[in-house]
Amino acid sequence: MSPSTPIQPSQPPTTRMHFCNGSPDVSTTPLSRAGLRDLSHAPASLRGSDASSAARVAPSTGVDRPRLERAVREILLAIGEDPDRDGLHETPARAAKAWIDLSAGSRDDAARHLGKQFAHRTTGGHELVAVRGVEFYSLCEHHLLPFFGRAHVAYLPANDRVCGLSKVARTVDVFARRLQMQERLTAQIADAIVEHLAPVGVAVVLEGAHMCMRMRGAAKSDSDMLTTAFRGVFDTQPAQRAEVLSLLLGRGRD
Ligand SMILES: [Zn+2]
Repeated sequence: MSPSTPIQPSQPPTTRMHFCNGSPDVSTTPLSRAGLRDLSHAPASLRGSDASSAARVAPSTGVDRPRLERAVREILLAIGEDPDRDGLHETPARAAKAWIDLSAGSRDDAARHLGKQFAHRTTGGHELVAVRGVEFYSLCEHHLLPFFGRAHVAYLPANDRVCGLSKVARTVDVFARRLQMQERLTAQIADAIVEHLAPVGVAVVLEGAHMCMRMRGAAKSDSDMLTTAFRGVFDTQPAQRAEVLSLLLGRGRD
């Protein structure tokens, strides 16, 4: 089929929404197919120009826990605390453990999760898979302070390649649990799905609250940061992008 050939829907689009205990919630929605382009044989073209190799961040080597504990003790000393006083003498060990947990994604690999796929036979045409409201917790690499919020992820499978919905959430975790920027986190999630599922399109939207903005002096703000990454048809087709954005950010579901 020529990429420019409009595909007419054979039946009216229907929407099936499933809500499971609040979040994340999942929808399977046939998009209107007019103007869809089949990119399944050209996955490389799905990649955007930003962070084209973002999904290929090599997992870091192990953690030096004693060094981490010493560093926490140094921080306590540097801010004028007594690391040996009651309440603080176990803090270096506790904080080191917390840092190891919060950076665990840098020692994980999205392939471990997205590599587990199964065939899903659609009734014809493309069916959108969307997961909304995936909680994420990350660390701003500029201030080493948390940012956290919700991730909304949608992809249009090609060749019936889909992954379990929990694997999308695990992939969000892999890239969130490390020193990050929200913009890069958003791109890495999209690029990992492109790399492992070779879909027709991917859309990722993140809503994040940054403690480096909220907790510090005059910069205090209750505003959220919203970032998006679009690949494939959601990058090249404005109508498809508008439709998936409206689905991912649609309110009134609570
Ligand atoms: Zn920051």
